[in-house]
Amino acid sequence: MEKNISFSRSQAEYIENIAAIMRIRARGEKPLAMVHTYGCQQNVADGEKIKGLLSEMGFSFTEDVEEADLVLYNTCAIREHAEDRVFGNVGALKNVKRRHPSLLIALCGCMMEQEHVAERIRKSYPFVNLVFGTHVIHRFPELLHQALVDGKRVFSRGNEEEDAVIVEGLPVYRDGSTKAWVTVMYGCDNFCSYCVVPYVRGRERSREPEAILEEFKSLVDAGYKDITLLGQNVNSYGKGLKRPITFAGLLRMLDQVPGEYRIRFMTSHPKDASKELLDTMAEGKHICHHLHLPFQSGNDRVLKVMNRRYTREKYLELIRYAREKMPDISLTSDVIVGFPGETEEEFCDTLSLVEEVGFTSLFTFIFSPRKGTVAEKMDDPVTPEEKSARFKRLCDLQESIAAKRCSSMVGTLQRVLVEEKNSKTGLLTGRTEGNIVVDFEGSDQLIGSFATVEITTARNWILGGVLRED
Ligand code: SF4
Repeated sequence: MEKNISFSRSQAEYIENIAAIMRIRARGEKPLAMVHTYGCQQNVADGEKIKGLLSEMGFSFTEDVEEADLVLYNTCAIREHAEDRVFGNVGALKNVKRRHPSLLIALCGCMMEQEHVAERIRKSYPFVNLVFGTHVIHRFPELLHQALVDGKRVFSRGNEEEDAVIVEGLPVYRDGSTKAWVTVMYGCDNFCSYCVVPYVRGRERSREPEAILEEFKSLVDAGYKDITLLGQNVNSYGKGLKRPITFAGLLRMLDQVPGEYRIRFMTSHPKDASKELLDTMAEGKHICHHLHLPFQSGNDRVLKVMNRRYTREKYLELIRYAREKMPDISLTSDVIVGFPGETEEEFCDTLSLVEEVGFTSLFTFIFSPRKGTVAEKMDDPVTPEEKSARFKRLCDLQESIAAKRCSSMVGTLQRVLVEEKNSKTGLLTGRTEGNIVVDFEGSDQLIGSFATVEITTARNWILGGVLRED
């Protein structure tokens, strides 16, 4: 049974001690940390907590590895390519450490929850000081203190008890002032046959709605305008809580908070996405008409071996219902090409589903075998060349669909949240409710607020527009 606990006071002592030690090591200057996060939004949210802890320890942040006192990579295990990149970047730190022997190197995130990765770091990267997994972020000060004071290499992953814990009250250092992430649940119970997440992030556990509401209100009060609720499978939110609540119920509760802001959420699983959720989106005041609903494959046999537990028809039924309730809905999705044994006909089912739905954008991936998953051991007669060719066909199709969808928006008025000024073009850049990028001319003062923009041009998935009075 999961339990929610508060960030421990014992960590406060470590924080103070580290701050004192680092002040001396940095000769009275503020110590600098370079933190780089790989992977999904959940990892980004974790990275903001790690930066929050570092900030409490007196660190400022830098992008320059040469001036850093501490380098931390918050890693992602979802694909082989992402792991290779991490190993490459960690390897490159060897020379930096040679030049700056006092540099502290820490690695955390999903990769570090895997024993074989920790073992490889232990053996082949002796210059890494600290390795810790996703379940022990709340003990980061203690672990860093150990590495600093004992001078030994520290390796820590969660134990069974820690894997079931939710720690509230961790400090957060948010990178932006317009967009913010709020984790509503952790872990995943689905065990899709290709996915490593249930092994590295543990079982599903939900935060208490009151804790989420409090964090959410503080973000709205602080002026955040685009708040994304995060979970590996948000539609399972609430299961296991003493007072049961559905994800739709949570959305309705947050939607009542007064203010000018948008709510997004990710990721939804089609097997758990309900009509109640779609009705709530349609009726909400602040909930974006944007649904990220990964379908992964358009073929029922492939979906079965992926252990996705829905059919193509069930997926399409959800889409039809969503469109009926929200004709303006923007749909995005994830899809895997070249799952072991996928035939040409089965791949064509994926193409036809993409055509039928007409997604605004797609995150397309070639299957990547992950150690310890069921799919890792599946026979895979499809050649890499064939997989790449299919991948290209899918991307070409999606590009033409996205271009048509964007062109159809020319002439419409869109409510755009202005995020920043593009330093190259000098144009303001913002996003529509459907999460499509819009460039337009305007004053810097609009950054961080909503503007009404008439769409005048469409280039693939980027729109251009002209500012209009509300
Ligand atoms: S739902 Fe499936 S793909 Fe998503 S995190 Fe869970 S196991 Fe992985």
